[in-house]
Amino acid sequence: MRINISNVAKLPTKYGNFKIQSFREGVKEHLVIFKEPLGETPIVRIHSECLTGDTLGSLKCDCGDQLQFALKTIGEKGGMIIYLRQEGRDIGLLNKVNAYALQDAGYNTVEANHQLGFEADERSYEMVEVILNHYKIRKIKLLTNNPKKLQSLKYIEIIERIPIIIEPNQYNKEYLKTKKDEMGHLL
Ligand SMILES: [Zn+2]
Repeated sequence: MRINISNVAKLPTKYGNFKIQSFREGVKEHLVIFKEPLGETPIVRIHSECLTGDTLGSLKCDCGDQLQFALKTIGEKGGMIIYLRQEGRDIGLLNKVNAYALQDAGYNTVEANHQLGFEADERSYEMVEVILNHYKIRKIKLLTNNPKKLQSLKYIEIIERIPIIIEPNQYNKEYLKTKKDEMGHLL
């Protein structure tokens, strides 16, 4: 897969002054958001796009809270967010809305994906290594509750896992429980 890489640009935000760079992989345009200094072992958050959570403040999941936690942490301490455009655990927005409709009918998040013919989680993390390699980063402190992300990195050494602590709300309590019980998330 041919990868196009943008120039680096500044992005001031309410969480701090970041720099951004986009990596285009086929039709997917990923975004790296970083705050210097990165140092030898930067804090890294791998975040998969969730339009409803990240930008609409959806309470069905914890993506928006996790992204804000990561922006705040990295805004203070430096590090990098790798924002991967794999919406809805990579089933895409239209399928995600259909999965939500199934959840409205009583299925949990894993069952709904299976009903639509998808795995519980279709995401992949190969781009992460392409991106970290581009920045010559070999060792990271990974900001995550998801052990699959820990296993998926082959050439990058994770020297520490930093958990993301988020208070559940009345809507995402069940979703977080499913993530913990059926997908092995460390919550
Ligand atoms: Zn989400």
